[in-house]
Amino acid sequence: MSKYDYLVVGAGLFGAIFAHEAAKKGKMIKVIEKREHIAGNIYTKEVEGIQVHEYGAHIFHTSDKEIWEYINQFAEFNRYTNSPVANYKGEIYNLPFNMNTFNKLWGVVTPAEAQEKIEAQRAVLNGKVPENLEEQAISLVGTDIYQKLIKDYTEKQWGKKTTELPAFIIRRLPVRLTYDNNYFNDTYQGIPIGGYTQIVEKMLDHENIDVETGTDFFSHKEEYLANYPKIVFTGMIDQFFDYQLGELEYRSLRFETETLDIENYQGNAVVNYTDADTPYTRIIEHKHFEFGTQPKTIITKEYSKTWSKGDEPYYPINNERNNHLYKKYKQLAEEQGNVIFGGRLGHYRYYDMHQVIAAALQCVRNEVK
Ligand code: FAD
Ligand code: UDP
Repeated sequence: MSKYDYLVVGAGLFGAIFAHEAAKKGKMIKVIEKREHIAGNIYTKEVEGIQVHEYGAHIFHTSDKEIWEYINQFAEFNRYTNSPVANYKGEIYNLPFNMNTFNKLWGVVTPAEAQEKIEAQRAVLNGKVPENLEEQAISLVGTDIYQKLIKDYTEKQWGKKTTELPAFIIRRLPVRLTYDNNYFNDTYQGIPIGGYTQIVEKMLDHENIDVETGTDFFSHKEEYLANYPKIVFTGMIDQFFDYQLGELEYRSLRFETETLDIENYQGNAVVNYTDADTPYTRIIEHKHFEFGTQPKTIITKEYSKTWSKGDEPYYPINNERNNHLYKKYKQLAEEQGNVIFGGRLGHYRYYDMHQVIAAALQCVRNEVK
């Protein structure tokens, strides 16, 4: 048996919080990470003085004061408020769907006029309770917005017809009858000054924690299972069980990043391309997350793709088939005994960062006395 109380697999947010909190309680922790760096998908790297979000744009938001205070121990946050815009064939619309969007689209000025327009368009559903993303979207904002800003973007993002996707995905987006372009409804929001990687670095900087990057759990699985009293696993739960019940589905992404010799490329951190012909879903201009004034700029085009073995599994696809299969894996996980599954991949849930923090803190409370 090793000298460690826990082996944590994955140095992302979940693994790092577990390690940090357990170490504070006197436990000895070994963390292994298959990538060459820590921080999982929130990893940021400084290039040309700009913090580049290497695995997609990350904006921290929460309404939970405790979670906000928790994360603020590890970094100071700026006042960034996410206000993406949508580019539909050269027409620009504000997101999330709000009075600015409705005014640009229909010329309506008051909330009552906007509501009337949405009501009239929603009539195509004949009062049906929405059962899929298409119906949910039309029910929320009507057919025009569905056609211009939702349908093609969503089909590019998920590689499935909106009629085959669960309604809850679109319920993540607020719909407002006010002139408010803030993408989130949460009380607290911002970007850590100096990037996200420092947060995980500080979490793992403890004398009871040893970190090894560039190590894949599956290259020594049996040895780890035999030598560690407990394992916290934040990778893919179906892979842990050798896909024995079948494969869960994931969505992957491809990022194309370029440095441009201009100061300002698109005037906003996030621009979504909501038409079917543009192959990418969005362009991120990283400096705008931190109000950067550098002479150069760095942009990333984000392409969505079907996941196949070897790709990064960025998004779980929480439809009925996959959730049902996940439940069966969860059952196996419970029988496994000495392995705790956590995080976006271990729980197979479309978690945002604040939800991962809550889940990790809960896990430590249950686990480490
Ligand atoms: P991860 O960060 O995926 O960490 C898991 C780690 O385990 C990884 O480093 C992985 O390499 C490692 N690992 C996996 N398998 C093995 C193995 N076999 N051996 C060793 N190591 C292994 N959240 C927000 O709150 N706001 C946002 O704006 C936001 N934007 C996002 C944009 C994109 C494109 C994506 C994909 C996610 C976004 N999120 C956002 C969600 C956020 O990234 C997650 O909530 C968070 O990073 C999950 O942390 P985690 O530790 O569960 O997983
Ligand atoms: N969405 C859309 N048009 C947009 C932005 C989002 O139709 O311009 C839909 C799409 O289905 C997406 C969902 O809303 O999957 C959630 O969007 P969000 O930006 O929250 O997704 P994430 O940041 O996780 O990629």
